[in-house]
Amino acid sequence: MNKATEYMMTFLENNYMPLVNHHLNENDKVYLGEKDNRICRFCKKDETETTFDSVAHAIPEFVGNKKLIAYYECDVCNSKFSRLMESHMGNYMNLWHTLSQVRGKKKIPSFKTTQDKSRIDIGTENVKIEDHEGDSIFTIDEEKKTITITAKRRSYVPIAIHKTLTKMALTIMPEEDLEDFKTTMAWINEEDHKKSPHDLKVLPVLMSIAPGIKPFPFVSCMLFKRKENPTDSVPHMIFLLAYGNFAFQIFLPLCSQDQNLQGGEMKLTYIPTPIDMNGIRVTRKQLDMSSKEKVREDEESVVLQFESMEEQEIPKKEED
Ligand SMILES: [Zn+2]
Repeated sequence: MNKATEYMMTFLENNYMPLVNHHLNENDKVYLGEKDNRICRFCKKDETETTFDSVAHAIPEFVGNKKLIAYYECDVCNSKFSRLMESHMGNYMNLWHTLSQVRGKKKIPSFKTTQDKSRIDIGTENVKIEDHEGDSIFTIDEEKKTITITAKRRSYVPIAIHKTLTKMALTIMPEEDLEDFKTTMAWINEEDHKKSPHDLKVLPVLMSIAPGIKPFPFVSCMLFKRKENPTDSVPHMIFLLAYGNFAFQIFLPLCSQDQNLQGGEMKLTYIPTPIDMNGIRVTRKQLDMSSKEKVREDEESVVLQFESMEEQEIPKKEED
């Protein structure tokens, strides 16, 4: 174990205890809550006031979760969260999810540019990149054997991405801990991100990108709760989501147990994952997702390594 990983381990150990963890590596589905007499955790309505017909994924399907299902999320809340929050994270991660082959609802998503010409599709055996003049998305460095894909994301609202992660955390949280997150619950339920009584100055999202083919082979999500006597000034609860090539980490904002911390210094560090233990070189990004403004034309670059290259005739399309 290297020094950085050792530091992360000690920090976590000194300040937190694990509260919930789901490592979705089994074939069986895991159901949260009770199948009968359902009450929605988010709007508090029961079966006489709302419906529970669709399958509510505790962690959205677009990150590859097929197994962790919540009985306590109603159809109205489910579609609202998908529209107001999850679609933004989907847009933000689209290119990454295509390239790292994260299987969504039905298939691995294709990536299309905002100009709708160039695109990337994942076939059963290959990755097909269609590159059009004036809408070019990639450059090849033959010497370094790299392909750099540079493209613009579809529009997204940063705070919606943070709320997507917060909502996942509130979904897997034990019932008795929700008491401390009443304000957080109201915050993710807001119909309009801009019409909010809360003005959070920074909302850090710690993102880790690990190289290789699915270094996180299955979806994992974890919640950690602050110890009675932590050594550092840390937020009450932190959440980790890992899948494919990615790990996301947040602290849960607006917690009633953090009132004395608000405005003060709050210490955040990365939660160690098996990848850190194995010494794999991870790219870390600390993102601030507090903005409520729509981000358009946000450019991102992904570098891919290749072994060898050969030119091929492009088969003529039938309509030509
Ligand atoms: Zn509901």
